[in-house]
Parts: sequence; C-alpha cells; structure tokens
Amino acid sequence: MVKRVPKVRCPQCGTESVWSSENKWRPFCSERCKLIDLGCWADESYRVPVQETQGLPEEDGQPPT
Ligand SMILES: [Zn+2]
Repeated sequence: MVKRVPKVRCPQCGTESVWSSENKWRPFCSERCKLIDLGCWADESYRVPVQETQGLPEEDGQPPT
C-alpha cells in the first residue's frame, strides 16, 4: 500500500510542499514564505542583504587546455 502524502502549493511562491505535521510552515513551503505572507519582510531586520559579485577575476593558474 502506497502511503499518500498530501501536497499543497505554497500560496506565496507556488512551490509544492508536503502537507504534514512535519511541515510546520504549511501551507507555505518554508518559514521565509510564511514571513513574507505575514508581511514580516517589510521589517528591515528581515532584510537579507543582496550579495553583489565583485567581478573577481578567475585566477587559479590553470590555463584552459
Ligand atoms: Zn514558498
């Protein structure tokens, strides 16, 4: 007998997540999506700084063959 795991689509990002007691963020897929829905991300403290690539040259001393 196949154990069916109910799935639910995250209302925030649309990702399919498992609807189970293990998923404490249901119906969201993650804490992040839940926080977004709650509007917590409007708080500066929840802002994740965007890491900008510094355009570092790839110098590993290994010329392409
Ligand atoms: Zn999500």
